[in-house]
Amino acid sequence: MYSYDGNIYVPRSEGDALKGFILASAASSAIMGTMPLFTKPFTRQIKREHANNSLYRDTLIKALDVSGLREKGVRILDTQFTLSDKLIADPKQIIDKDIKAGVNACYIPTRKVVKLNADKACISGFHELGHAMNNLKGKLSNLLQKCRYPGYTLAGLMGTVALFSTPKPKDAPKNLEDHVRDNCGKIAFIAMLPTVAEEALASHRGIKLAKKSGLDKSLIKNLKKFYTKALLTYAGNAAATGLAVFAAAKITEHFTRPKKVNVQSSLAQPHFYQEV
Ligand SMILES: [Zn+2]
Repeated sequence: MYSYDGNIYVPRSEGDALKGFILASAASSAIMGTMPLFTKPFTRQIKREHANNSLYRDTLIKALDVSGLREKGVRILDTQFTLSDKLIADPKQIIDKDIKAGVNACYIPTRKVVKLNADKACISGFHELGHAMNNLKGKLSNLLQKCRYPGYTLAGLMGTVALFSTPKPKDAPKNLEDHVRDNCGKIAFIAMLPTVAEEALASHRGIKLAKKSGLDKSLIKNLKKFYTKALLTYAGNAAATGLAVFAAAKITEHFTRPKKVNVQSSLAQPHFYQEV
């Protein structure tokens, strides 16, 4: 029982809470299920670009010198032969499977290594060198890069908070926990923005570097298109996550917020009376 502002509120039943949990989970899964809309354009193009790999390969090698990154110890690791099965089997390295298949690439700041399949995915290399520049050549971009995993962790945590029941009536005084619960969708979205910004900056620097390294104009145009699609996957992920967390929180709140008991009407029609 919760008493506030002269009114009595009663907690909701376990059945209501279960209904809320099921609907909230279903809604957030449905929203996250829209992710292929954002990722498909990128995946389709990267597969098409395998045939054009030789057009980008030599300029990418040149870009490592032009950028000054080679001097700073950055290397490009060709994963088509070197990646061991042990690494692929490691769940933390699951992305390596995609890298070996040439449908993804990455930069590892702690090792100063760009990982890609040099026989298929050199088009991704300029963007990854952009990540290396973010890491080694800019304080703000380095900070944004460091926010990636804490940001994803915080967004994941907000997904859990969204499923916590709402213990108080709507206008009851709120503490920090209540404010976090009320804003968990926004917090999840904002937590992912540093990564979107860092990705955009890596592409911007990658395109600039490709130009400086002498990549043909028509290929630069194609590179811009490709990197825009890559950015869409990150922006889409942030938007879908924020929305999924928001929807889950609203549904949970609807099914778990205590209900007001109408004291006046129950007093007006008493079930018992006393003789005086
Ligand atoms: Zn990236």
